[in-house]
Amino acid sequence: MKFQRLRGTKDILPPESLLWEKVIINTFNILKNYGIKLIITPTIEDRNLFIRSIGEGTDIVIKEMYEFKDKKGRDIALRPEGTASIVRAYIENSLPEKIDLCYLGPMFRYEKPQKGRNREFYQIGVESFGVASIYKDVEIIKLAYDILKAVGINDFTLRINMLNCKECNTDYIKSLTKYLNKNINTLCDNCRGKIERNAILRVLDCKEDKCRSITANAPLIKDFLCKKCMWNLDLAKDLLNNLKIPFKEDFHLVRGLDYYTGLVFEFITDKLGPQQNTLLAGGRYDNLVKEMGGKDIPATGFAMGIDRIVEVLAAEGIQEEQKLNIYIVSDSERMQKAFLLLLKLRENNISAVMNFDNKSFKSQMREADDKKVKFVLILGEEEEKGNFVSMKDMKTGEQKKVGNEIVIEEVKNLLAQDVIK
Ligand SMILES: [Zn+2]
Ligand SMILES: [Zn+2]
Repeated sequence: MKFQRLRGTKDILPPESLLWEKVIINTFNILKNYGIKLIITPTIEDRNLFIRSIGEGTDIVIKEMYEFKDKKGRDIALRPEGTASIVRAYIENSLPEKIDLCYLGPMFRYEKPQKGRNREFYQIGVESFGVASIYKDVEIIKLAYDILKAVGINDFTLRINMLNCKECNTDYIKSLTKYLNKNINTLCDNCRGKIERNAILRVLDCKEDKCRSITANAPLIKDFLCKKCMWNLDLAKDLLNNLKIPFKEDFHLVRGLDYYTGLVFEFITDKLGPQQNTLLAGGRYDNLVKEMGGKDIPATGFAMGIDRIVEVLAAEGIQEEQKLNIYIVSDSERMQKAFLLLLKLRENNISAVMNFDNKSFKSQMREADDKKVKFVLILGEEEEKGNFVSMKDMKTGEQKKVGNEIVIEEVKNLLAQDVIK
């Protein structure tokens, strides 16, 4: 009997997985520069955690949660996003008030599988706790920008918006509610539901044309910002300009979840179509920690979809090749010597492979060629008698003899030169 993977899941295989490797390694190099620490939380959580944090009326909770009862009848959900779990862990483990954390792992949404949307997908995210300063918001946007650049994404648009703080939120909600109620018959069912559930801000998020025609003329958050929010927004824009990070203000950007406050942002691409244009998104969520039972602690963060990033790279024809330095060609009589040399190379941090199948020299050379190694070390009868190995530069085709005792040193030298070239 043959098994198949579940609908909406995928196997990530070479050579595509090499792109994944590149994205993950480059991202973590940047995260290290920012002094951010890794946190790993379970993929399963109490279902109520997400209802409480993401919001009862959100699409994620209503339609997309991957949930089930376990053997004791408990309501379990596979995490649909990272923030809720990180906030839960932050509170539960009494982590230091000020801490910047990052995570990497699979998220799950029970959606209708379609191109670019799997039921299991991967995110790398950052959550920064304890700092209310707008400088932190800009630092987080710069971090996101640095990551996108480092993974090879150069063509994107940054959209930002300032949501109301506690002080200026009420007046805006009042005004927006009044406006939407006046136009309620034009709105889609989904949006009417949002109004009923008091998730009024999310009407601004709706992609339906008829709703867009209404929201296009809706009162703008910007006109209701208090002095402090306005000052923060101006400073953020100033800083982004100074950092030469291009951005667009999008007054309808509210993000799909309940918990956002303050500066929110999205990095989007036009490479994959409108249904899957978000590369990375996040924003400030100053109320969530308290709402989840913790102290009154400000926070901000973002999440980046690795699947989507890789898709964009692939769409741009970017391929990642495995970089191997050495292939050892040998025969059955010299197998043990060759094997020991292979391991010695690796002990010296030099990537190397060989073939244990006792193939002909010719087919081994072909394999070395396929693997695009830089050098081939040949260990045959002649070499063994003369206490040397033959070393072939695969780029130039030049071959030379290298004494056994200096092989490692010589390989190191040549690779160093190759890097300099
Ligand atoms: Zn305000
Ligand atoms: Zn709508």
